[in-house]
Amino acid sequence: MNADEALKSLKKGNTRFTQNNLTHPNQTEARRREVVSGQEPFAIVLTCSDSRTPPEIIFDRGIGDLFIVRTAGNVTDDVAVGSMEIAVEEFGVQLIMVLGHENCGAIKFAISESDFKGHIGSVMDKIKPVIEEAKKQPGNLQDNVAKENVKLVVEKLRNSQPILTKFISEGKLKIIGGYYRLENGEVEIITE
Ligand SMILES: [Zn+2]
Repeated sequence: MNADEALKSLKKGNTRFTQNNLTHPNQTEARRREVVSGQEPFAIVLTCSDSRTPPEIIFDRGIGDLFIVRTAGNVTDDVAVGSMEIAVEEFGVQLIMVLGHENCGAIKFAISESDFKGHIGSVMDKIKPVIEEAKKQPGNLQDNVAKENVKLVVEKLRNSQPILTKFISEGKLKIIGGYYRLENGEVEIITE
């Protein structure tokens, strides 16, 4: 499936979800058996670890459909990029969606705190750089930081050498950014 078809499929699934018209595709025993010997996911989703943003549910998909990386604040690092590279190289996935969301705890924490325990600072250090830019914008600061963070992660991935840049230049990979609204369940595309 190419990137445009993959995006169309994600959008359709999200519409089913928001309209309360779920079809739960690929969640049967038959599907489970079908993908034992191999997988062909059609999209990679990098989203927040937040318990309210499970990709298979908000895009109404099933087993073997989505290759998912989740970190608090949907930030990326070498392990996350390496995971996505596996899906691009080995499974031929042509679309990566970086998905941020409304009322994100990690974003809120990055805005309001400066002293972090344990390894939490490793996450916060990734978010902090976009806060100043977001402060210049009108509207809700937390939303703006979350959206700027998505854009930053999209840019980082688009410039990630050598694998992601290669597939992008060959026209075999698109990386886009989305924003999920907790209240109505809608995913808005903010970077295409
Ligand atoms: Zn979050």
